[in-house]
Amino acid sequence: MNAVPLPVPLYAGPDLRGDLLAENERLLQLDQLKDELIATVSHELRTPLTSIVGYLELLQGPDAEPLTDQQAQFLGIIRRSAERLLSLISDLLLMAQVESDGMRLERENVDLAAIARECIAAARPIAASRSLAMELTAEPAAVFGDRRLLGEVVDNLLSNAVKFTPDGGSIAVRVACLNDRVLLAVRDSGIGIPVDEQSGLFTRFYRTRDAARRAVQGSGLGLSIVKAIVDAHGGEVTVESAVSEGSTFRVLLPANDSLSAEERSR
Ligand code: ADP
Repeated sequence: MNAVPLPVPLYAGPDLRGDLLAENERLLQLDQLKDELIATVSHELRTPLTSIVGYLELLQGPDAEPLTDQQAQFLGIIRRSAERLLSLISDLLLMAQVESDGMRLERENVDLAAIARECIAAARPIAASRSLAMELTAEPAAVFGDRRLLGEVVDNLLSNAVKFTPDGGSIAVRVACLNDRVLLAVRDSGIGIPVDEQSGLFTRFYRTRDAARRAVQGSGLGLSIVKAIVDAHGGEVTVESAVSEGSTFRVLLPANDSLSAEERSR
């Protein structure tokens, strides 16, 4: 969390004021140290994990020796666990970077519909394994934004929709142009979120009581990252949900009307 310099009470005597200022300085340094620690540890963990996932892909690939059913099953479990760890680590890394430097955007003309299409293609296998119908309705939607980070937004919203929708449910993604804004909506037919818990959703480490009770995996970081990215792009993110009726997350971003021909054809 960003340390905010605290005002020293005016009524404090010179000694007390000095003590408070020194203590505050120490806390600011500790806070910075914590960010550096998270960034370093996450980075160091990511490298070997990426290699584990890479070698697992080779073992599961078409050129590998045939596996017994049990070996294939065990490798699948190892891979899912490694991928979950990687995703947690990249969330922590992103969070630590935002804390220390703010959100740095590498902006270019991007088509949010193309980004959504790629994210959906990546999520299809897991959705299919859970018999979740997944559909995309999209029109070309130009945004002057950071392609990787906007992909994180879609990935996070999609993975929540998958996680919190029981098998056999449905997920619908929509990308549309609304005057001077671009809309990304991710709707699911899942467990929903009680109204009294919705205000905390975009807070770091927040998880609803139901998610904790059902022991759904997660760190509670995803939506706070979504909000930080959307805010940095000058947009807003909202949720509409009712228990057992599903949830819709909507992101509105400023539109960029100069989408290049190359981007459109992607
Ligand atoms: P994580 O999913 O890793 O726990 P998030 O920040 O992405 O973290 O989400 C925070 C919490 O918001 C989740 O733990 C869950 O309780 C709730 N939530 C998010 N998306 C949905 C959804 N589509 N349906 C129901 N609950 C959701």
